[in-house]
Amino acid sequence: MKVYLRISLLRLQLMSLLAKSRLLIPDFSNWFSLPKPIYSLDAFAQINERYKQAICLTFDDGPDPVYTPKILSLLADYNAKATFFVMGAAAEQHPELVEQIVKDGHAIGNHTYAHHHPWMINTALAKSEVARTSTILERITGTVPRWFRPPFGRLRGVMRKQAYLEKMETVLWNHSIIDWGPLGTHAGITQRLDKIKTGDIVLMHDGKREHNHPDIILQCLPVFLRSLHDKSLVTATLDEFSQIK
Ligand SMILES: [Zn+2]
Repeated sequence: MKVYLRISLLRLQLMSLLAKSRLLIPDFSNWFSLPKPIYSLDAFAQINERYKQAICLTFDDGPDPVYTPKILSLLADYNAKATFFVMGAAAEQHPELVEQIVKDGHAIGNHTYAHHHPWMINTALAKSEVARTSTILERITGTVPRWFRPPFGRLRGVMRKQAYLEKMETVLWNHSIIDWGPLGTHAGITQRLDKIKTGDIVLMHDGKREHNHPDIILQCLPVFLRSLHDKSLVTATLDEFSQIK
């Protein structure tokens, strides 16, 4: 009896160790056919009544100590929800902002550690850019991220595979606000925000990285958020959709 109990205990310990280390056994049947990335909310086939008018706002490259709190405060003013694809390095520097994002009811996604171009790095680094960020986000939020978005939206097999092994879905977008570079003007951003329609996954940036213009996004968001009610659009996080998928 004692031996049986000891074996059961050992088995339990082993299972919890495996669960904690998130050691996943690769599914070889999917090795060459990874799930397709998600581009729009059409990917969620069984959208129920509550989400028929939904749009999904996403903010990349944060958390940013200047812009993320301002965007969070604006979203709260209009009771809008978003999904933040954060960088591991920035999350490590500003864990309190990641905590605030979650506390405000938004979703978190993995946007790699240092935002290297996926095609410009070696295999080992490509893998660790994804894995390291998940570990950091789990440490801060207590849960593993469910969504992965590669930098610049550039797909790389080894990163997608890593995301798949970590049970994340790769999410891109179907409507970019182009809030960077010379096209990221007040007029251009306003025009593109106005074109958002039901089912869109919208790309914006809260992180001031390279050529991003989160300052202009901040100026343009209030008018857009105010218009949601008249357009009968509702904002929802990716986490909300995963529950009905
Ligand atoms: Zn990015």
